[in-house]
Amino acid sequence: MEVVKRLKALLKEISVINSSVSLMHWDQRTYMPSKGAETRAEALGYLSALSFRKLISPEMGELLETLSSKNDSTSLSDLEAALVRVVKHDYEKAKAIPPELYQKFVITSSKSQTAWEKAKKENDFASFSPYLEEILKLLREMVEFYGYEEDPYDALLDNYEPGMTTSKLEHIVSELKPKLISLIENLSAHAPIDDSFLKGKFSKHAQKKLSMEALKCIGYDFNAGRLDETIHPFTITIGTGDVRVTTEYKLSEFIASLYGTIHEGGHALYEQGISPELKWTLLDSGASMGIHESQSRMMENIIGRSYEFLSFFYPKIQRAFPKTLKDVPLESFYRAVNKVKPSYVRIEADEVTYNLHIMLRFELEKALINRELEVKDLPDAWNAKMNEYFGIVPPSDSLGVLQDVHWAGGMIGYFPSYMLGNLYAVQFFNSALQEIPELKKEIAAGKLSTLREWLKEKIHKHGRIYKPEELCKRATGEELSPRYFIDYVEDKFRRIYGL
Ligand code: ZN
Repeated sequence: MEVVKRLKALLKEISVINSSVSLMHWDQRTYMPSKGAETRAEALGYLSALSFRKLISPEMGELLETLSSKNDSTSLSDLEAALVRVVKHDYEKAKAIPPELYQKFVITSSKSQTAWEKAKKENDFASFSPYLEEILKLLREMVEFYGYEEDPYDALLDNYEPGMTTSKLEHIVSELKPKLISLIENLSAHAPIDDSFLKGKFSKHAQKKLSMEALKCIGYDFNAGRLDETIHPFTITIGTGDVRVTTEYKLSEFIASLYGTIHEGGHALYEQGISPELKWTLLDSGASMGIHESQSRMMENIIGRSYEFLSFFYPKIQRAFPKTLKDVPLESFYRAVNKVKPSYVRIEADEVTYNLHIMLRFELEKALINRELEVKDLPDAWNAKMNEYFGIVPPSDSLGVLQDVHWAGGMIGYFPSYMLGNLYAVQFFNSALQEIPELKKEIAAGKLSTLREWLKEKIHKHGRIYKPEELCKRATGEELSPRYFIDYVEDKFRRIYGL
């Protein structure tokens, strides 16, 4: 059909620009000389604006309207119908916000991030609070333009998790929270696990080799990507056939970098597994942040920290660091990488405590958006929740309310994706286990190809065709349920701690 052809041509123009923007971003964060920063920012700004203008162009509006009208939409294939639905959602979201408001939001969040960096360094929440107030004010305005049915927070959630609502999340939280709090109490009563051998001196060369081996083992395609070094690990897709990952090597510990690499590898497998049929369509990325996170956390935690995987991979780790690890048995290593300990900092959290860090943020940001909590009371509210959930209170705001960049960057509504990712991961893995009875044996033999094919078939190849909810139903036969995660952590950690 002629109109579909025109839509696809326009989407290709947008995608090609986005691909160039991604490559420039990757370069900016890896190899760009520092003096190139200003020119790069200008070029990136120009190209991003060009792509955005094409997305909200009158031509796009006309094409989408024609294709959504009754007569035309009935002759569309399933794939074309999905294309129209997803692009229309992007178009409407982008059009909803008046350009001046959006511009103000971009500038404010950029200034706010700079203020946050300083405030975090100097442990000075008061200097950051006016910026957060301004971000919240702008987001509340934007929420009215986006529209919502029940809760203003829904409109922000939808930016990261299409279809997710505040009430669905509250339901999940109410089921999960008490179980986790009581599990942590039980585990904390036990003697702590010895993980002293995870600290020491670990050469960058050996760490790099190990990261490469781990990526190869999970099936990352080095002919369609590469691994580089950055301060903050990330995965970036330049386009079909080019999905890159980065990691950070710390010389005094290798665990964070190894698991960081496997985490990014999980994101990358998702992007590498998207059907080439979706190339240049805007459907060629993940279904949501939560679904994306499910793929990284499955590789990092459910696989990477499993006894089966380590029984295959730990000898390689021992060979990389023989001095420190040759006399440490597999059992001790397995327990050490699964140690549960309430911590102040989210990104250092283990599988059991992690979701509570997210619930805390979800509850606070929802209250902020709804004016049920004032910014000046935020540090106290944060500390009270830390005490309630973990029994610890951070000694400073830098290790508390100021630790994450998300609020400073205007990304309110993002945090729940991390928790949803953890839940989706277990539910997906559970279905894979039922359909592949030999799966645990295969993992213990270092064979991850059957699982990878399963994930590709059920999740990866579809890109953004299905909303998270539908994707989950198709892959597992039911809606997202926290039950699987609860069973998983209770079983795994009671065993490890001998409860
Ligand atoms: Zn991630």
